Amino acid sequence: MNSGTSGKLLALIPKSGRRRFLTSLGTGLRQCIPKVLPLGCLLVALSGSACFILHRELPSRSFRSMGGLATVTLGSAHADRIEPVTAQVQGIFDRLEQELSTYRADSTISQLADQAGVAPIAVSDDAFRVLSLARHFGELSEGAFDVTVAPLVNLYGFGKPPTPAALPSEEVIRAQLKLVDYSRLILKDGTAFLPLKGMAVDLGGIAKGYAVDRAFDSCRSAGIQNFLIDLSGNIRVSGRPQWGEDWQIGVRDPFDRSRIIGKITLRSGMALATSGNYERFVEMGGQRYSHIINPKTGYPVTGTAGVTVLAQDATTADGMSTPFFVVGLKGADKLRQKAPSVDVLFVPDKYPTEIWLTPGLAKAFVPLPEYSKAVKLLYP
Ligand code: AMP
Ligand code: MG
Repeated sequence: MNSGTSGKLLALIPKSGRRRFLTSLGTGLRQCIPKVLPLGCLLVALSGSACFILHRELPSRSFRSMGGLATVTLGSAHADRIEPVTAQVQGIFDRLEQELSTYRADSTISQLADQAGVAPIAVSDDAFRVLSLARHFGELSEGAFDVTVAPLVNLYGFGKPPTPAALPSEEVIRAQLKLVDYSRLILKDGTAFLPLKGMAVDLGGIAKGYAVDRAFDSCRSAGIQNFLIDLSGNIRVSGRPQWGEDWQIGVRDPFDRSRIIGKITLRSGMALATSGNYERFVEMGGQRYSHIINPKTGYPVTGTAGVTVLAQDATTADGMSTPFFVVGLKGADKLRQKAPSVDVLFVPDKYPTEIWLTPGLAKAFVPLPEYSKAVKLLYP
């Protein structure tokens, strides 16, 4: 059975001297809300949840796209632009979903799988770019990020049900592993090709970050300077919420999603993404398995509860959060040397909660008092 949710980062809309507001919702609540909802309604919906203290009505709209909840929030100076800007962002997300989703039979990505081992297919500029970026993150992470992981994702029932009753045998996993190798994805002159029948790509680890960057660029081109875009916890900000204030993002506690472990201050242009084991998981043989697969072993990753990446754009934050989750604390140093401009927050999958931070995130992150003893510095 598939369960879980996204939305591991919470956009905190600040107001000096008052408590913070959370724009992100848990799964249960999300299922109850209509497609587009003014922020004021969210305040009411959430006020029944004792864990969050809410305030502030910056112009904000939420809608569903790319399999999750998207929220556009504008700085107070742009209040009158919220409707057209939301429509513009939704248009971008919906169009990318049509092309990049593995769940739609008519998407470019589904056609690429159908034509695997047969012939290259022509793809749009966006699809070509996001596939090229996915290959790039594959190379950077030495295969910890592998965009051709789809056969394994499907094997465990994440992509397409059913989920097997028990963990598949090593033999079955090994057979699917033969179809997983990002370096065999051929991208040439606006076409894409997978050379073996049965190969397929899954852009779930990068497409939302890419979509947020496209929306970010279009908002700036439209003259909007102060905004926050959140697509299932892939967040990028511009400017400030209002004069003298910074955008602040709350990070959920992976062991208790009703709480945040602390908040991150985001400078203009910066992005955050989180990969979490609580986000999507399946149960096989009474055990829970996360939706992120180690492409070296073929098994779902264990040992990490959550990884948050701070980067200069949302594609990098998303594209790096998944491989950091795969390599875990042990492999993080090596991976970070390949991408020194990113910062990482790790929560290992063990209790009590530990929060490991690289120096850049240590500057931007303020833990809640009850978590301050859990904070440890990674590579001081
Ligand atoms: P994220 O939440 O960004 O870490 O993305 C997780 C999603 O990426 C999963 O739901 C899969 O669709 C896909 N995925 C799982 N394992 C990998 C992997 N090792 N490399 C690339 N994508 C993956
Ligand atoms: Mg990712």
